[in-house]
Amino acid sequence: MVEDMSLDQKIAEVRTLLERVQKDYLPATFANSFGAEDMVLTDLIARHYPDIEMFTLDTGRLPQETYDLMQQVTERYGIRIPVYFPDAAAVEAYVAQNGPNAFYDSVDLRKKCCHIRKVEPLKRALRDKRAWITGLRRDQAPTRKGLVESEFDAENGLQKFSPLLDWSQADVWAYLKQFDVPYNALHDKGYTSIGCAPCTRAITPGEDVRAGRWWWEDPEIKECGLHPGKKRGAHNIASATTAGSGAAVKDLAVSD
Ligand code: SF4
Repeated sequence: MVEDMSLDQKIAEVRTLLERVQKDYLPATFANSFGAEDMVLTDLIARHYPDIEMFTLDTGRLPQETYDLMQQVTERYGIRIPVYFPDAAAVEAYVAQNGPNAFYDSVDLRKKCCHIRKVEPLKRALRDKRAWITGLRRDQAPTRKGLVESEFDAENGLQKFSPLLDWSQADVWAYLKQFDVPYNALHDKGYTSIGCAPCTRAITPGEDVRAGRWWWEDPEIKECGLHPGKKRGAHNIASATTAGSGAAVKDLAVSD
């Protein structure tokens, strides 16, 4: 049973999977949203799997704390992660037609914004790759229950690996603490899942881990389109408080 495994055993399983990706699926890339889960994978890949690439998406609406963490990762690991931006003309047309905050007006307009700022840049980032890696966990959201660790992503035409699928929130924070991995300062302010600033809020104890994402929408449907569900996605841990210790906020990307 996965839940009976120690953190060391879970790390060993993730490393086995990453080794397989590095051996059999290059060119492969890790979609790094700088969430807590993705910082586990950032640490493992940066230290042990230099042939696996990384990238991130800058939607143009990210919180300053995420940029701070990007900079910290560069300094800590000596790597500069390629950043994919949305098509400027598409953003200009969307904002001209709908306004700067149209994502609050309807699910359709929110999904259009996510498509322009995330999905289309993701497709560019994945072009010509054989596999991509995500930090998704199964218990993050109702929309993620049916995900599997390795599957063919027909939408993007490559293999998709989610090595942390069966990790708990506590496992993630235990890893970050054990290896002194930097994480987003917003986690210490009650943010468990971090995306764009206008679409993310802190949660209160007892709320679902992704309750702070698109909080005005039905939890059964809210995904940004990066990880569609299957039909049958500059602090030091030593100073961690609530989210970091997993105490008050019992339950972050992506991944997005
Ligand atoms: S999360 Fe919000 S701001 Fe970011 S791309 Fe989606 S709708 Fe747009």
